Amino acid sequence: MAKQVIWCVEDEQNIRDILEYTLQSTGFESRGFKDGQSFLDALQQEALPDLVLMDIMLPNTDGMSLLKQIRSHTQYAHIPVIMTTAKGMEYDKIKALEQGADDYLVKPFGMMEMVARIKAVLRRCQARQNNIHTPHENEKIGVDLQSRQAWIIEEDQKEFLDLTKKEFDLLALLLSQPGVVFSRDDLLDAVWHTDFLGETRTIDVHIRSLRTKLKTYGNQIETVRGVGYRFARNDD
Ligand code: CA
Repeated sequence: MAKQVIWCVEDEQNIRDILEYTLQSTGFESRGFKDGQSFLDALQQEALPDLVLMDIMLPNTDGMSLLKQIRSHTQYAHIPVIMTTAKGMEYDKIKALEQGADDYLVKPFGMMEMVARIKAVLRRCQARQNNIHTPHENEKIGVDLQSRQAWIIEEDQKEFLDLTKKEFDLLALLLSQPGVVFSRDDLLDAVWHTDFLGETRTIDVHIRSLRTKLKTYGNQIETVRGVGYRFARNDD
C-alpha cells in the first residue's frame, strides 16, 4: 500500500524539520512548506495530500485564510486539515473548528500525540469517504459530504433535511459505520473535538433532535445503554 502523504505548512524551520522527520519515521510520506504560497502552488500542481497539518501564524497568508480557501474549493474541500498554533490562543481554536478544521493541536505538542491525532483524523475521514463511494441502492437516508446535504427517501421522494452543522456531522459519522457503536466520548472527540466529559449531555440533546428530523427513520439511531449510539444495520 502506498504511504499516506502529509503536508506540513510551518514557517519555523526547526519545527518543520522535526514534524517531517517524525512523520517519515512513523510510516508517512511528508513534505514541508514554509509559507502559504508555496503550499497553494503545490496544491494546484501536484497530487493532493492525504492530510494537511497547518500552522495558523504564518507570514503573509495565515493558516486560517488558507483553511478557508481549502474548504471553499470543491476539489480540495475533502482534504483533512489539522491546525496548530501557540498556547493560549483559545479563540483561534474555536474559529479553526468553525472554519472546518478536523482537529487542533496546541504548541508545544508531543510528536507522538501529533501522530496519534493524525491517524485518528485519517481513520475518521476514511470512514466518511467509504460512505460516499459505496452508496446503497436502497438507501433511505443519505449524506453528501461535499455539499453537506442530508436527505431521506419517503414514498420514493427525496426530502432534504435541514440539519445544524453538528447534527450533520453526527449523522455522517454514525452512517459511515452502521452497526458500530460510538461511545459518547468517541462522538465528542469526533464531532465536538473535545473530550470534556461534562459535555456528554450535549450529545443526547443533538441525537434527540436528529431523530426528530429523520422522521420515520429516527429509530434507526439506536441507543446502546450505558455506552452510546449506533446506526442500525439494515440486515439485523
Ligand atoms: Ca508560525
